[in-house]
Amino acid sequence: MSDGATLNAASELIRRTGSVALACHVGPDGDALGSMLAFGLAARDADKQVTASFGSPYSVPRNLRFLPTELLVPPEEFPAAPGLMVVFDAGSAERLAELGSNAAKAEKLIVIDHHATNEGFGDVSLVDPSAAATGELVHDLLVELGWKVTPDIAQCLLTAIVTDTGRFQYASTSPRTLRLAADLVAAGASPSQVGRHVYGEAPFGYLKAAGAALDRAHLDRERGVVSTTITHTDLTDAGIDWGDIDNLIDTVRLAEEADVAVLAKVHEDGSVKVSLRSRGDTDVGSLAADMGGGGHRLAAGLTSEEPPEKVLAEIHRRIEDYR
Ligand code: AMP
Ligand code: MN
Ligand code: MN
Repeated sequence: MSDGATLNAASELIRRTGSVALACHVGPDGDALGSMLAFGLAARDADKQVTASFGSPYSVPRNLRFLPTELLVPPEEFPAAPGLMVVFDAGSAERLAELGSNAAKAEKLIVIDHHATNEGFGDVSLVDPSAAATGELVHDLLVELGWKVTPDIAQCLLTAIVTDTGRFQYASTSPRTLRLAADLVAAGASPSQVGRHVYGEAPFGYLKAAGAALDRAHLDRERGVVSTTITHTDLTDAGIDWGDIDNLIDTVRLAEEADVAVLAKVHEDGSVKVSLRSRGDTDVGSLAADMGGGGHRLAAGLTSEEPPEKVLAEIHRRIEDYR
């Protein structure tokens, strides 16, 4: 549950403003984008002027383009010093990339998030690590504000919840999560549309790029870790981009011999973005946080400027300290 006083403080700031600027974490997933767009649509329905964006690279992942994205603007069109700014699904200002400086200049900042590693930034910090998705907290806020959940808003929130619970599979899925999902479907959200767009389709090139990455997978039986890399070149050879491989880690983690799955994504500039998942025995969130990233106990990530072999070797070396 989000605490009542914090919800009240957030809703007071929102009620008083005529315009609001919204941002979510870089490389947005279904929870980041769905939560932000849901709140944005509701604010617009309440006659607020709304701008929404996320930091570079500014590209909506293909599998989320079915969401109503008309409120989005590129980060360079985001207000430099917003009167009120609301941040979604980001545990720290660094996760906003260049929009972190807009957040620093905002007159008032509200942060809505569910990461255990959240740094508690912002004037109002609506953070609840027991929530399965930031979307649950956005729904609490809409109820507090008395704002109506239209079919479009319901679709955005259902996407947030479905994606962050791994389609209701993760331990974070509570009775409250499932009840909210039922309410959202009753309000007009379509589970089949979410399923089809997010999980049921990918460009043909995905098969090739995933094939290359899976072919390189390495199993460290002793430590129970399966890891692999996917590079910018794999993607350009296959004609796809980073937003198309968000679900690849779910295939890597199928290896039943491993508790931990690691996917290192090597970008064009040489930086490495690592996704980490655990079946339950390893606190990958703490490991990621100790290596400069963050996330949840069983799903986390980090970014490094070191060569991928070095980053992976360090993860393998340190993993047993987090069990
Ligand atoms: P991903 O592997 O990108 O799906 O991310 C898994 C989880 O870790 C999500 O909750 C992210 O918000 C979080 N996360 C991913 N990358 C980072 C990072 N560089 N810093 C902090 N948190 C991260
Ligand atoms: Mn997220
Ligand atoms: Mn989330």
